[in-house]
Amino acid sequence: MEFNFGTDLSGKVAVVTGAGGVLCSVFSKTLARAGAKVALLGRTAAPIETLEKELTAEGLTAKAYQCNVLDKARLEEVRQMICGDLGPCDILINGAGGNDPKASTGMEYYDEEEAKKGVKTFFDLDEDGIRAVFDLNYLGVLLTTQVFAKDMIGRQGCSIINISLMNAFTPLTKIPAYSGAKASVSNLTQWLAVHFSRAGIRVNAIAPGFFSTKQNAALLWNPDGTPTARTGKIIAATPMGRFGKPEELNGALMFLVNEEASSFVTGVVLPVDGGFSAYSGV
Ligand code: NAD
Repeated sequence: MEFNFGTDLSGKVAVVTGAGGVLCSVFSKTLARAGAKVALLGRTAAPIETLEKELTAEGLTAKAYQCNVLDKARLEEVRQMICGDLGPCDILINGAGGNDPKASTGMEYYDEEEAKKGVKTFFDLDEDGIRAVFDLNYLGVLLTTQVFAKDMIGRQGCSIINISLMNAFTPLTKIPAYSGAKASVSNLTQWLAVHFSRAGIRVNAIAPGFFSTKQNAALLWNPDGTPTARTGKIIAATPMGRFGKPEELNGALMFLVNEEASSFVTGVVLPVDGGFSAYSGV
């Protein structure tokens, strides 16, 4: 089943960061199948090159560019390459993001006895890990937008989609830095939407609920494949009672990049979460 929802992106150039990852590889396929020429940006070459092969085998236009979103000189270099290969960027998906275990606690609630046993507490959070999470999630979006939004100035129908998360609305236990960093992504989305509102660039974010991917697998599944206690809590707090499937983000993506459907929509952070953010738990 295709998930283009009637959005035709023929002639558009879409740049996707984190394109080798679970969610953004799905976004990249959806954008390409809707007609966009897709630049696949990833920190490591292998997954984006595999995706390029898969999409070109379908007769679609996609090209892989190895690029760290924290390396502005490389981002500029890649922008020049994309302009030459595919054309200037119309759609930017800021998908690269994630947590660092060094910036997570091992316990949800502070417990002195557990701390004595060596379970990681707030006091053990690693400064470099916290900095890395804020750099990747916030600075990575900001630098990439600085580079690719230049292509959008003075042109019509351009938009930027950032990827936020449920922890941006209310922090999740154990992951303070990731929660703060994604809150800053939602905040930056609003700031950019206002800043570019008269330049014809719409800026929105998608806030996925809970999707079981390799990034969060260790938190959600025990080594023997059984669900962790955290998985039980997530499902209990998701009124629809299940994890989302990455393909279920496609409708939000296609809506937000569709110039007719969302021409007056900018600065929103759209939850796709089975009701998680609407539910108080009671
Ligand atoms: P993922 O780990 O599969 O994908 C993230 C991708 O980003 C990876 O391919 C990784 O190589 C790339 N990346 C990491 N650092 C990079 C850097 N410095 N430069 C360039 N690329 C870099 O994770 P995912 O679950 O597909 O997450 C994609 C986005 O969605 C992230 O922003 C994540 O925070 C967000 N998100 C995920 C979930 C979920 O449940 N999985 C939920 C909400 C939001």
